[in-house]
Amino acid sequence: MKIQALHTWITQSPYEPLLIAGPCGAETREQVLKTASELSKIKNIKVFRAGIWKPRTRPNSFEGVGEQGLEWLKEVKEQYGFKTTVEVANAQHTELALKHGVDILWVGARTTGNPFSVQEIADVVKGTDIPVFIKNPIHADLQLWLGAIERFSLVGISKIVAIHRGFHYSGKSDFRNKPLWEIAIELKTILPDLPIICDPSHIAGKRELIFDVAQKALDLGMNGLMIESHINPAKALSDALQQLLPNDLQTILSQLIYRQATVQDKACTDKLTQFRNMIDVVDDELMNVLKKRMQIIEQIGDYKKEHHITIFQLERWQEIIRTRQQWAKQLDLPKEYIEKICQLLHEESIRIQTDVMNKK
Ligand code: PEP
Ligand code: MN
Repeated sequence: MKIQALHTWITQSPYEPLLIAGPCGAETREQVLKTASELSKIKNIKVFRAGIWKPRTRPNSFEGVGEQGLEWLKEVKEQYGFKTTVEVANAQHTELALKHGVDILWVGARTTGNPFSVQEIADVVKGTDIPVFIKNPIHADLQLWLGAIERFSLVGISKIVAIHRGFHYSGKSDFRNKPLWEIAIELKTILPDLPIICDPSHIAGKRELIFDVAQKALDLGMNGLMIESHINPAKALSDALQQLLPNDLQTILSQLIYRQATVQDKACTDKLTQFRNMIDVVDDELMNVLKKRMQIIEQIGDYKKEHHITIFQLERWQEIIRTRQQWAKQLDLPKEYIEKICQLLHEESIRIQTDVMNKK
């Protein structure tokens, strides 16, 4: 898959994060231009976002201003030099966005989950070299996200960027959409050249959490941020709780620590290599200990088989949990971490013993 690095077409260097800001939705010409004017005072924001067609969960909510908003974005571009981006969810949106000179298209979370819509959009952009940003689908399904990316790549789009905006989660969570960072990391592992930026606004759902989510994204080496900003968040027609005043956005952006994924300074890389060597040694020890544990489990399996003892022994399992938690506490290791590891060890132990039992 041919994917162009951000610095070949939009940022100045591989270390510059791509910053995108703007309101959740374009509401009036004045709101759009005033927001753009305020955001233009913040260093390094490259792209102005605004939803023109808003996907709303329930009807009779604000569904966007439609085509007229694209004209306001043209003014933003001319007056403030931003590149512009809007969400497109079908062929018609895409045709209109192209016609009105929108610079970047983004595919929203609800659309990424629908291959028919994604293909419809891909068919319209075929033959252009417009950049397409693809949000993760609402549900934690990496294959759907990958599939959408592939559909654009297959029609010849090479300026592709993934946007991590969190996932629907039915359990208890502080977030509007749970980050599940591991899914973004897995995507990066499959497509190492694919830039991934984070949308902390839709993950957080409330202003107070945006800084921490953005910092975490940068710490994980993500390539940029898309953050919602509105000149009067309390009066916003959508996503009022998560939109930031341009001034507050500026504060956040100035307080974030931007790390470099690779370090050029020699002393620094030497030190890092030293630490990594230490980790290699410890991991090697860990593997050997795991191997030892496995061998003992096989012996236990044989013994249980011979003596007709069941594999799972509730009291023993309860004892393992209790004692390991005590040991962990003494070593100041986090309880949940140790619980997870014990769970994994136990599952593997049952699997091995089942294999032993089934052996003829
Ligand atoms: C948005 O960016 O305003 C939006 C609707 O996002 P998402 O598709 O991530 O819900
Ligand atoms: Mn929004």
